[in-house]
Amino acid sequence: VWEDCLRFIRSQVGDQSFKTWFEPIVPLKLHEGILTIQVPSQFFYEYLEEHYVQLLRQVIHTELGPQGRLEYSVIVDSGSAQNQAYSVTLPNQTPKNKWEQDKPAKIHSPFDMPSVEEEFRHSNLNPNYDFENYIEGDCNRLARSAGIAVAEKPGVTSFNPLMVYGGVGLGKTHLIQSIGNKIRRDDKKHFVLYVSSEKFTTQFTDAIKNNSIQSFTNFYLQVDTLIIDDVQFFSGKEKTQEMFFHIFNHLHQSGKQIIMSSDRPPRDLKGLQDRLLSRFKWGLTADLQMPDFETRIAIISRKMESDGIYIPDDVVEYLAYSVDTNVRELEGVLISLIAHATLNKAEINLELAKQTLKNIVHDIESEVGVDYIQKSVGEYFQISVEDLKDKTRKKEIVIARQVAMYLCKEYTNHSLKSIGYHFGGRDHSTVIHAVQSVSDMIEIDTKFCHSMDELKKKMRMKSV
Ligand code: ADP
Ligand code: MG
Repeated sequence: VWEDCLRFIRSQVGDQSFKTWFEPIVPLKLHEGILTIQVPSQFFYEYLEEHYVQLLRQVIHTELGPQGRLEYSVIVDSGSAQNQAYSVTLPNQTPKNKWEQDKPAKIHSPFDMPSVEEEFRHSNLNPNYDFENYIEGDCNRLARSAGIAVAEKPGVTSFNPLMVYGGVGLGKTHLIQSIGNKIRRDDKKHFVLYVSSEKFTTQFTDAIKNNSIQSFTNFYLQVDTLIIDDVQFFSGKEKTQEMFFHIFNHLHQSGKQIIMSSDRPPRDLKGLQDRLLSRFKWGLTADLQMPDFETRIAIISRKMESDGIYIPDDVVEYLAYSVDTNVRELEGVLISLIAHATLNKAEINLELAKQTLKNIVHDIESEVGVDYIQKSVGEYFQISVEDLKDKTRKKEIVIARQVAMYLCKEYTNHSLKSIGYHFGGRDHSTVIHAVQSVSDMIEIDTKFCHSMDELKKKMRMKSV
């Protein structure tokens, strides 16, 4: 039966697609009108479902009759097959013309009460992120309005690519997903794909391993709007960048929209090839800042509203005032506060809010250690931890080392002697000198001061 199916499919799809998508399928069994086929991966299954469901439906109808069904068995990583019971069912009525149907095929599966979740699954979008719950403020005005413009006319505005950057927890993912969600809602046929740069990298390395680069590229080249989150993780991954460059160019040339986010401005994306960086400048780069006090109040109020929770004004103000690191942390504190109140059956008041915040800050302090500081500083300055501990006297390294010592003094309980010991056995006077130099530089060098603020934020946020 499968042979017959294949024959028909071959006549309907291009050679390359047939090779890529149908040859690797293994027919497993035909039982009571249900044909089970094995596909190599979840990715593969999703692709088939997205692009060939109608064709498969037709084939099953011809071969197995109106009651025929198709089930997929997806091979999971370990090599064992997992029955996913995703299935394509055919309706009872015969279409007017056998091969032509005006309505897109319908997937009936256990998950198929066509829920919002199901619809968005293929895009990897979280439907809860939208512009309505993305509070506007000075902190995000440009990025947000550019985002809306792109969502209204993907691929058409000059904001292509759209690059959004900002520190952790400032709303990058929320914003770029809102764009994707709006596009999807306005035009169901538009293929939006959201993927983190890490997932892209994994898919790509898997494709190399499985010898399926062709299907990997095929998949990406038919995306209408590609959203790549956290591109800083492409740093140093040459092969992946090359592949992304290729896909980027192809999509861009075909007028497809590309949206990216990064935790730092493109000029600071060390380890990214210049030719890729220069592409980012074709479009618009917009930054996200920490929301100001009023915007933070608006964010908290919006959250309370959607969760149906009431918090007195003075507590809202206290939280908005005290949590100035990022929005994720602000939400985290809010959640802890609500949890505390619920668990202790206490009412939410200023006292409880202060207590909650104190506990959280305490947790954070106790978790920052020398290792963590060395790692963070190394990452920030793009220097290895070995170099920090080493004898090197290169200027950048010396500064980074002093910064790390300074942070150890500020954020850990280590003695000067112990800190020196952790930096290649230096003595405590070196640490005193480092702390002094860093303090001086914070005073006179605003750029440096800004870097220090970022690092300090990172220390404070550790456990959130
Ligand atoms: P990032 O990707 O930059 O690390 P996220 O997009 O994950 O940050 O945002 C962190 C949290 O803060 C999310 O829950 C998000 O919904 C919320 N958030 C960020 N900015 C806003 C905003 N302007 N309005 C409402 N919620 C926001
Ligand atoms: Mg994010």
